[in-house]
Amino acid sequence: MKTTDLHQLFLNQKQNFTTDTRKITKGAIFFALKGENFNGNTFAKTALENGAAYVVIDEEAFYIDERTILVSNVLETLQHLAHYHREYLGIPIIALTGSNGKTTTKELIREVLSTQYRVNATVGNLNNHIGVPLTLLSMTHETEMGVVEMGANHLKEIQHLCFIAAPNFGYITNFGKAHLEGFGSEEGIVQGKSEMYDYIANAEGIAFVNQEDKRQVEQADYCECIYINPHETPLLELTPYVQLAHKGEVIQSNLIGKYNYNNIIAAIAIGHHFNISDENIKKAIENYKPENNRSQIIEKGSTHIILDAYNANPTSMAAALENINALDKKNKAVILGDMFELGSTSRKEHKEIVEKVLSYHFNSTIFVGKNFYEQKVDGAKFYTSFEELKNNFDIDFTDTTLLIKGSRGMALERILDIL
Ligand code: ATP
Ligand code: MG
Repeated sequence: MKTTDLHQLFLNQKQNFTTDTRKITKGAIFFALKGENFNGNTFAKTALENGAAYVVIDEEAFYIDERTILVSNVLETLQHLAHYHREYLGIPIIALTGSNGKTTTKELIREVLSTQYRVNATVGNLNNHIGVPLTLLSMTHETEMGVVEMGANHLKEIQHLCFIAAPNFGYITNFGKAHLEGFGSEEGIVQGKSEMYDYIANAEGIAFVNQEDKRQVEQADYCECIYINPHETPLLELTPYVQLAHKGEVIQSNLIGKYNYNNIIAAIAIGHHFNISDENIKKAIENYKPENNRSQIIEKGSTHIILDAYNANPTSMAAALENINALDKKNKAVILGDMFELGSTSRKEHKEIVEKVLSYHFNSTIFVGKNFYEQKVDGAKFYTSFEELKNNFDIDFTDTTLLIKGSRGMALERILDIL
């Protein structure tokens, strides 16, 4: 079936579609994707039984009746459809990538733009080759603007996602050390993220670039840029929440860490570009509260917890440590979990974090995970796993500011239950 015909069908079915048989509603189009451990084709029959109007499959053996749409590759079909739909709607799309801070920045931008426009943005962290099409296909005639998060762990991925989403605007949060394994090197990371600038330049779009970030300015050299000037929205306070000045007013955010200051000023700059009023910008930033263990502040008795257990890589780990070190608090402690996906640099990166932490002389320093355990030295406690930490937990965090941070796989939010 041609993309135009499939798109017509998609509109006829009121954009009711799903890739999950458990979420079928009457009249839906079911896209039978394949995963590592499943083959959506095998669910086609169930999908129709559960009320789907059509099923899109790519294995002839699972053909059922005229409600079956047989294509050569369901994933590619979904991506083509998403691209076609995006072109059909013709609305401005802002794409975001970077090593850290994509979701936070995306949500801040969504909050700001939503004060004056109907905005569809990536839900949660659905930022890959499936998530991006799903985000685009969730947009309707009502949608006035889209904000699309793009994640990548290898080269050419951002290029591919840009071809699908065809953004008119792009922002790269930072070039940090995340997914080193897949990108091979730091240069690989810069190159991989900069595929967004390549796309924007070719498509004659606009890149938002923090003018203080020399490397970004350099990489975006050949794009039309709108420069974000931090001097226009200076940081006022960091204790613990980011407070900044904006047009003679103070914006009091619910976000912690200097890195979030950068995320906020990007959202403000993008808001300005789309003529969001200063009042609405302030309101949107002040209302936004992070979720999912992303830099959340939690008070437990007299322990003041900075829970940043959502993910970790050397750049965000260093940023979080610098942040707690800069806080004007008497007692400080950190519990840090392993960082994953670092490939051959893993040892070196864990060692550097251990050295960095010890140079800060926090009241207690605790490491969890096998990677950190390999770097065991005096001056800190090391545990190979969360279970081992739990069974030996004897530290008193009274009147203490405690940073908890580690990769998602470490699930360090479990510490909240044992404190
Ligand atoms: P993912 O790759 O999982 O999609 P992400 O890029 O969407 O991550 P967020 O979920 O917004 O990033 O933030 C994750 C963590 O990254 C935060 O809790 C914080 O520790 C760190 N972080 C956020 N913004 C920045 C930034 N601008 N620079 C460095 N680190 C950041
Ligand atoms: Mg994200």
